[in-house]
Amino acid sequence: MPVVIQPDIIYRRTEPPENPVDMLVLAAHPDDAELACGGVIAQMTAEGKRVAIVECTQGEMGSRGTPKIRREEAAKAAQILDLTERWNLHIPDGNIDASQENVAKVIAAMRYFRPNILMFPPEFERHHDHENAHRLVRAAYFQSGLSKFEVNVFGQSLPTYRPKRLFCYMQTYEFEPDFYVDVSAHFETKLQSYYAHASQVYVPGAAQNQAEPQTLISSPEFLEFLKARARHFGGKIGAQFAEGFYSVEPLGFKSLSDLLR
Ligand SMILES: [Zn+2]
Repeated sequence: MPVVIQPDIIYRRTEPPENPVDMLVLAAHPDDAELACGGVIAQMTAEGKRVAIVECTQGEMGSRGTPKIRREEAAKAAQILDLTERWNLHIPDGNIDASQENVAKVIAAMRYFRPNILMFPPEFERHHDHENAHRLVRAAYFQSGLSKFEVNVFGQSLPTYRPKRLFCYMQTYEFEPDFYVDVSAHFETKLQSYYAHASQVYVPGAAQNQAEPQTLISSPEFLEFLKARARHFGGKIGAQFAEGFYSVEPLGFKSLSDLLR
């Protein structure tokens, strides 16, 4: 019997939807993708590529904001980044386990969007939801290639699929990236998409919400940290701003000519 999945569509750019996408970004919480890899997302969509974001939880355990506010903010950020589509899987915040139901939800996203590149959280992180989302994606990646794991999305049973590239983005804890991407020309768009999550983050020039608890990312210092890291990574590759990633599988090239542009 197929598992029936009905995702919550936060944003869809066109009807009918544009599939497949070039890159799918899987995230634990509604603001994670923008914070970690908003630069490469903005870059890809500016180049005419299709990018979708799927977040696991509504962030309902967060100290600030509500699921309703965070949903509106995620839709606004999707417009800023010019995503093709954005989903929320409604997995309980703080409890992203790799149950068969949750695995089926992520398989639904992989088979529906059929991305070449899958971006997701690293395995060692400050927030346990990020680590658990990593493990959930790894479990779903493998099982998405199994024909006996049947998943029905929007009334359709979709064929098996595994993304070609599995890349992890950087969140709070740092790792030695396998590669860096020059996002200088798109860093301002990244920041605008990040500011769209106004209930969560510090927005320069905006009235600050003092009524809610302060968190790591609601402080001006965190924004400075985010910029400084991107500047530091940029310096390593002769760019102004860069984002760093690691590849789950070894990166290979058909020819060194691939690097000649
Ligand atoms: Zn998060």
